[in-house]
Amino acid sequence: MTDDVVELERVQKRFGGVTALDSVTLGFARGTFTAVMGPSGSGKSTLLQTAAGLERPTAGTVRVGGTDLATLGETGLTLLRRQRIGFVFQAFNLLSSLTAEQNVALPLRLAGRRPARRDVRAALAAVGLADRGRHRPAELSGGQQQRVAIARALITRPDVLFADEPTGALDMSTGREVLALLRSMVDGQRQTVVMVTHDPVAAAHADRVVFLADGRVAGEMTAPTPQSVAERMTSLETAGARG
Ligand code: ADP
Ligand code: MG
Repeated sequence: MTDDVVELERVQKRFGGVTALDSVTLGFARGTFTAVMGPSGSGKSTLLQTAAGLERPTAGTVRVGGTDLATLGETGLTLLRRQRIGFVFQAFNLLSSLTAEQNVALPLRLAGRRPARRDVRAALAAVGLADRGRHRPAELSGGQQQRVAIARALITRPDVLFADEPTGALDMSTGREVLALLRSMVDGQRQTVVMVTHDPVAAAHADRVVFLADGRVAGEMTAPTPQSVAERMTSLETAGARG
């Protein structure tokens, strides 16, 4: 028995001759915030995409909420992604022709549910955008757009929220607001969050940091501080350059 909502067991992912992930075994427990770090090309995005069922592993097992993703066909996988997984990207990926409310309601519409306006408004209020529901993405700042994307990702109450460099396109203070929001989702709602970042200060918002190098787990750290994370990253990059 485990409290892990996402489990990867000896996961390998190859693209042609490139091994992006090599025997990765990791678990993510409910209500925890994990940062994933590593040099460029170390497999961070592939890890998120494989854990989210966006990519199928070449070998090994991915389980989300106890379901082995390999047992699902394309339709089952699509449904699981819609119902149990939220994903936010560096580039927000909002639909520019839709208002904030319509963007947030979209996952419910895709699931064939009629979105209750009250639920959509509550989701926007939870990210501090109660008064921006009628705005289109172009009328919102970058930080506001990312908060709409987070509200959209969480409207289905997913088991896990994956975020691939969610602050990468934001200035420092706006990025800090988004990180504080993710932290509050973990602390207040036991949301599980897994976030890729390059920034040691961002990683220090997490409970745990997983370090990747060459597609493998190269170490872990709990109770990270910006200093301890930066030191570990430097030693990983130095080892890689030597290697
Ligand atoms: P990171 O996010 O840490 O920068 P990625 O997971 O994007 O790393 O990539 C890991 C490795 O896998 C890299 O060598 C990259 O070129 C390769 N890779 C990732 N996605 C693909 C793909 N769709 N096709 C081919 N190679 C890929
Ligand atoms: Mg990446």
